[in-house]
Amino acid sequence: MRRLRRTIVTLILLGLLGLGALLLYGHARSHPEDMPWTALDLTRPVGMFTGRKIADLADEGPRCQALLDQAGVRFTALPARGGGEQCGYDHAVRLRTDGALGIRYSPSGLGTSCSVAAALALWEWHVVQPAAQRHFGSEVERIEHFGSYSCRRLYGRDSGAWSEHATANAVDIAGFVLADGTRISVVRDWDDEAAAGRFLREVRDGACDLFATVLSPDYNEAHRDHFHLDQAQRGTMGWRACR
Ligand SMILES: [Zn+2]
Repeated sequence: MRRLRRTIVTLILLGLLGLGALLLYGHARSHPEDMPWTALDLTRPVGMFTGRKIADLADEGPRCQALLDQAGVRFTALPARGGGEQCGYDHAVRLRTDGALGIRYSPSGLGTSCSVAAALALWEWHVVQPAAQRHFGSEVERIEHFGSYSCRRLYGRDSGAWSEHATANAVDIAGFVLADGTRISVVRDWDDEAAAGRFLREVRDGACDLFATVLSPDYNEAHRDHFHLDQAQRGTMGWRACR
């Protein structure tokens, strides 16, 4: 009797395990972007591992550029830049608006690492434009920024860790301009209770699914006027910052 009961319990557990595996398999088939082992595809929706996979592209410039191509993103490949041991970049790009992207960056000429560019593309499609439509019934036409490449340590200090800006693997976003000319600025509108503030907090939150590090005015005084977005490489299961 006891043995029979144990057999039944074992069978039920095995059945549940099998069912779980089947469900996971089904989900993996229909949502490859939620699985850590599937290849990144920028045309897919943003999934649980999309941001990590993009950050992992740091050493794979050519593959990153091929993925942009596949997604219809047009860009100018920038010449490699040397900068000593800690600075410089390979495979940086300047996004163009004659392909699948429509937002211009101002000042113009923004060049970033390819993984930052890939995340900016997904941010535009899946986060920034949908949020602008929802809050303003309009599109974002321009993103104002404080630049990407800068050969410096964190906070411009004389010692300590080097900034992701030193390899163009970061960008500082200061504001957004809608098609009708409305400006939404991080420094002015972050605490706004109305649409502008809600829009800013929503695009900050959405950036956290795409960038390894997102620092906003919630983090500290140094970020009161911009979002710092970077693709620091901390390994596939490494920590991510969203503040
Ligand atoms: Zn920054």
